Amino acid sequence: MEKKYVYLFNEGDANMRELLGGKGANLAEMSKLGMPVPNGFTISTEACNQYYTDGEKINDEIQAQILEYLKTLEEETGKSFGDAENPLLVSVRSGARASMPGMMDTILNLGINDTVAASIAEKSQNPRFAYDSYRRFIQMFSDVVKGLSKKRFEEIIDEVKAEKGITNDLDLDAEDMKKLVALFKDFYKKELGEDFPTDPKKQMMEAIEAVFRSWNNERAIYYRRQNDIPSDWGTAVNVQMMVFGNMGDGCGTGVAFTRSPSTGENKLFGEFLMNAQGEDVVAGVRTPNKIDQLQEIAPSAYEQFVDICNRLEKHYKNMQDMEFTIENGKLFMLQTRNGKRTAQAALKIACDMVDEGLVTTDEALMMVEPQQLDALLHPMFDPAALKAATPITSALPASPGAATGQIVFSAEEAIEETAKGKKVILVRLETSPEDIQGMAAAQGILTVRGGMTSHAAVVARGMGACCVSGAGDIVMNADEGEFTVNGKTYKRGDWISLDGSTGKVYGEQIATVPAEISGDFERFMEWADKRRRMNVRTNADTPRDAAQAVAFGAEGIGLVRTEHMFFDGDKIKAIREMIVAKTPEQMEAALAKLEPMQQADFEGIYEAMEGRPVTIRYLDPPLHEFLPQKEEDIRQLADEMGMTYDELKSVVDSLHEVNPMMGHRGSRLAVSNPGIARMQTEAVIRAAINVNKKHPDWHIVPEIMLPLIGDLKELKYVKKIVTDTADKIIAEEGVDMPYHVGTMIEVPRAALKAGELAEEAEFFSFGTNDLTQLTFGFSRDDAGNFLPEYYSAKIYETDPFAKLDQEGVGELIKIAAERGRTTRPDIKLGVCGEHGGDPASIEFVDGLGLNYVSCSPYRVPIARLAAAQAAIKHDNK
Ligand code: PEP
Ligand code: MG
Repeated sequence: MEKKYVYLFNEGDANMRELLGGKGANLAEMSKLGMPVPNGFTISTEACNQYYTDGEKINDEIQAQILEYLKTLEEETGKSFGDAENPLLVSVRSGARASMPGMMDTILNLGINDTVAASIAEKSQNPRFAYDSYRRFIQMFSDVVKGLSKKRFEEIIDEVKAEKGITNDLDLDAEDMKKLVALFKDFYKKELGEDFPTDPKKQMMEAIEAVFRSWNNERAIYYRRQNDIPSDWGTAVNVQMMVFGNMGDGCGTGVAFTRSPSTGENKLFGEFLMNAQGEDVVAGVRTPNKIDQLQEIAPSAYEQFVDICNRLEKHYKNMQDMEFTIENGKLFMLQTRNGKRTAQAALKIACDMVDEGLVTTDEALMMVEPQQLDALLHPMFDPAALKAATPITSALPASPGAATGQIVFSAEEAIEETAKGKKVILVRLETSPEDIQGMAAAQGILTVRGGMTSHAAVVARGMGACCVSGAGDIVMNADEGEFTVNGKTYKRGDWISLDGSTGKVYGEQIATVPAEISGDFERFMEWADKRRRMNVRTNADTPRDAAQAVAFGAEGIGLVRTEHMFFDGDKIKAIREMIVAKTPEQMEAALAKLEPMQQADFEGIYEAMEGRPVTIRYLDPPLHEFLPQKEEDIRQLADEMGMTYDELKSVVDSLHEVNPMMGHRGSRLAVSNPGIARMQTEAVIRAAINVNKKHPDWHIVPEIMLPLIGDLKELKYVKKIVTDTADKIIAEEGVDMPYHVGTMIEVPRAALKAGELAEEAEFFSFGTNDLTQLTFGFSRDDAGNFLPEYYSAKIYETDPFAKLDQEGVGELIKIAAERGRTTRPDIKLGVCGEHGGDPASIEFVDGLGLNYVSCSPYRVPIARLAAAQAAIKHDNK
């Protein structure tokens, strides 16, 4: 049987999202619920994938199915394509499985040509509407299908307006629109050397193809990478009968959310424009009206809309983001989906919906993207500093957060300046989807035009960036690198601050303070903590980071990188003395200097962790990292150390390695310099004894972790140094203090030989950074140089150092966990590489039954939620 690629809206439902995309599945669902949805059909994501398999061609079979369904659509609507009497116009819109707002393309009013436009003009008695629709279609088709610059079309419109001496688009009359159509067609022909296509079927096939193509445009690829959306999902295409919001004053179009996407407040929230088409609202070109005003303008449509909103929210058990059009007073629903929202809103909505009895706590936990919490963990304005500052203007609080930075005027500048380490605020007249990378790079976004649902607002909320939009008081002069507001000029590079929660803009830098977890956030995280199976620890090397992590809910430290403590002040001096030591006595003397400093470091960490478990990892990096490499620096240090340049230079040279990441590092350092491991053991054990004396109820049990072990004999050798030293001190001090020695699993051989290693190791911590590096065989420091080419070639979709390679590296973790547990059933297993803070990786290791993940302090809440979601998904399987 031939494969079905096309589905009428009434053939599908919300469960068919994989095949129909989110938009198609929800249009089908709304049709099923009896809501007013214009008829249409969806071309499946499988057709998109087939299009790519066929070398970017819509094959005959799919084309035939599309034409067949077009015929059905014509029958259903009683209209037909290109017909002078009763013409059918359609919209052609993308719709992937996961919503990707603004990333792909849309074409409206398709099916129009000279004959059809004349007919619509006559039948609607509204020639302005007919030619406005026509010129919009030419613009969109030229842009989306042919890649002609949008800007030129806007310029042509501006020229016509200037000729007439008007500034508002609404003052263009029917004749002007007709003129625009002619000018646009001329421009099209001049640019492409062919006439604008008049055959609606040709228009449609080309438009469908363009939507398929847009799946792989640059911004869609970037968005997918940011949001972990696989490229093989493809997009569906929805072909739907047009209804018109631009047919006159009884018509309009808008978007609305069932609750505030900014604060979560339980109140219908939305915007609309009368006599306009959908793009006008989201593009932010005209500043729209608040949804409440619709009640006066179109009362019965408003009432029906409110009723539909309530039904949809209850039906989907989630806040909905909807698009609607009113054609001569009659309401049509064009889209519904789970609305994007800020982190604050997400938490409030989740908590409120539990209180309203609409969702269970499990469902509430699944409603919030773990990554989103990041936005709540970053500094907020210092309340006192904020109070002392005076706003220069105030606009819409489009996406909350506190942003301070230097002004830039383009996305490219934002990217460039941020790469130089600057903090920038992107100031734009309005944003467009091409700006997405610059928006991500900036601390915050300020736009002159646009409402709460403008592109800038939607995208900023999606990525948790602070955004203030619609700041109409600002007079932009981006070409000159400045803007003016209330008589004062701000130039490129000047500092400004944005408060995304109030919409206030300040002409200065404002100090910030750390975030805290309270209110809805705290309540929500308590549900997550009850639900998760894995513990969440943190990677921290200082008491300050440790305390921050505890405030964010860390239950212990999974990795103290001791080398980080060696870099400051007297410690770097002592470690350098150790490295250049020529005799055992010099070596011992240097280590004797280091020990008390290291012990004090550990005491600080134990104090900050208040009895929570702490895993201390022994010195790991190659020693050359502690010495300068440049001649002038070597000279200066030689002076300071009372050595000759040549002496120090020869030490530096002797430590040189061709491949330092695979060189003399990790436990290899302890094998060749046992004194280091001895000193570190003494520091750990003495620190724990001291802190236990001060706080007898804490019962600190030191956890000592050996890095980069690859062999049982190696582990035994280093472990013996540790246990000999520790046991001796414990005996001397006459205390009874257990301690554990474990190993990192970072070398593929260690994963394979985990069964043996578990004879000696009381715990394993997967160092997935090194394990990834050594499994792929590419350097974690250099892979960034060539990985982008792997993404372009679709060999890899994501950075394996950020998101665990489950098939390869994951397989090694699985093997090691199984073999380790066979030898030592109660062995404790954790992850302390970067992947310990990545939700997808957390879900994977939860599935392997690991005991904990450890991640940087700012990712602790993300990991807590991700671990809860992993457990819920596991139970629902
Ligand atoms: C690792 O390799 O994953 C790890 C945690 O150790 P480091 O990043 O310090 O090499
Ligand atoms: Mg490592």
